[in-house]
Amino acid sequence: MQQEDISGFKAQLRGDLIEPTDGRYEEERKVYNAMISRKPRLIAKCADVADVITAVHFGRQHDLRVSIRGGGHNAGGLGVCDDGLVIDLSLIKYAHVDPAARTVRVGGGCTWGDVDHATHAFGLAVPSGIISTTGVGGLTLGGGMGHLTRKYGLTIDNLLAADVVLADGRFVVASADENSDLFWAIRGGGGNFGVVTSFLFQAHPVQTVCAGPMLWGLDQAADIMKWYREFIAHAPEEINGFFAFLTVPPGPPFPEALHFKKMCGVVWCYNGPLEQANEILSPLRSFRRPAFEFFAPMPFPMLQGMFDGLYTPGLQWYWKADFVKELADEAITLHIKHAAELPTLHSTMHLYPINGAAHKAGKDETPWGYRDATWSEVIVGVDPDPANRDRITAWAKNYWEALHPYGAGGGYVNFMMEGEGEDRIRATYGNNYQRLAQIKAVYDPNNFFRVNQNIQPDALARGKGHDA
Ligand SMILES: Cc1cc2nc3c(=O)[nH]c(=O)nc-3n(C[C@H](O)[C@H](O)[C@H](O)COP(=O)(O)OP(=O)(O)OC[C@H]3O[C@@H](n4cnc5c(N)ncnc54)[C@H](O)[C@@H]3O)c2cc1C
Repeated sequence: MQQEDISGFKAQLRGDLIEPTDGRYEEERKVYNAMISRKPRLIAKCADVADVITAVHFGRQHDLRVSIRGGGHNAGGLGVCDDGLVIDLSLIKYAHVDPAARTVRVGGGCTWGDVDHATHAFGLAVPSGIISTTGVGGLTLGGGMGHLTRKYGLTIDNLLAADVVLADGRFVVASADENSDLFWAIRGGGGNFGVVTSFLFQAHPVQTVCAGPMLWGLDQAADIMKWYREFIAHAPEEINGFFAFLTVPPGPPFPEALHFKKMCGVVWCYNGPLEQANEILSPLRSFRRPAFEFFAPMPFPMLQGMFDGLYTPGLQWYWKADFVKELADEAITLHIKHAAELPTLHSTMHLYPINGAAHKAGKDETPWGYRDATWSEVIVGVDPDPANRDRITAWAKNYWEALHPYGAGGGYVNFMMEGEGEDRIRATYGNNYQRLAQIKAVYDPNNFFRVNQNIQPDALARGKGHDA
């Protein structure tokens, strides 16, 4: 690749091309997880679909390793590659709501905060995650679970169509009616199949939710976990609650007496009136009165942004995940043992419920096959200080190894680091892996898009054409 090739590429873009000599390069190459440092050859800040097509052609012609960056939030740093081309979508940012159809058309570089901002004005929301700074691209393509999962399903269950630039530079629409095999694959198969420049989502009536955390001391954790395990299995779909082990941050709204205390808690989200929410939760309050609660009606975007200030970019981050069908008593004992050893203020363990509406799709209706699991578990070692890198990593690994035998086999791809291995990816997709590999062979036979939780193109299916 000559400098004149790069200049020609730059001249074709409406957006920008950043090289290592550019003053912005150090900032632009940063990964959300400060444990990871990558040095790409070029960062193409694409302004529109035409720029993405140009970037894909350039990457192919020069045989470059290519990564796709949506919101840039991936903890494994998969939005940025070493020594290759980053196709950055952060300038492709729009969220157009159709209030009559209750849909929203979202640019490939949006974060969920962008979408919530747009939809909230119409009393609508799309099911996403629990943090507003997460990218729409990566979260959606991996599945997407959060505060609205039990009522409205995973994010992919609300995806109606996507615009995709394929590895050969062609632009296609993927929906139930067009390129339906591709549409199937992108609903869980990650960034393996092309660059999604736009998503069309079904939104739902969500405006003020009753939400927030309730916390208890670790001495009550066994009782609370057992209560929660029964409750969430049968609770109305309007209520979502993820279980957490955490260390209480030293600031408002938490009382000083609880600062730095290791505790367990549930973060609730009820999409309905406060009286109903209180009725549903009153048995819990009578069973074990929370040591602290911050449960109140609030605009949905406020809930989505509640933890943004805690989990800012630039922290050291190591996490491991599993799907869980049942929470055995022995598993609860192990959880509490490892929670007592939470190594830093930001480190945590979450159990996200994935039952309710998320169980309505069949196991092979999308690649996201763990439709019979009850929770998605994630063990997260986090700290601002690079000196604590090994400590948080060792804690997360030990915790995960102790609990893994009680898991369902695979884990959520969006909660994996880079390089967890093909076995983990296969375990996660189960029987859907083979079909994903076949579709990959059709749309990306040379594995051009490989900086991701990679699905290898099926050798036998290669060259069958785009409508196979
Ligand atoms: C603090 C934090 C909280 C989180 N909370 C949740 C949660 O509540 N629920 C949940 O489900 N997940 C959650 N996640 C995980 C999150 O879904 C993944 O980290 C996801 O990869 C982030 O997407 P992104 O676009 O920001 O990432 P990026 O780093 O930009 O991209 C990651 C990968 O996604 C693919 N990709 C991204 N955009 C596109 C696109 N437009 N077209 C094609 N491929 C694309 C690429 O393969 C890329 O390598 C959280 C992550 C963090 C760090």
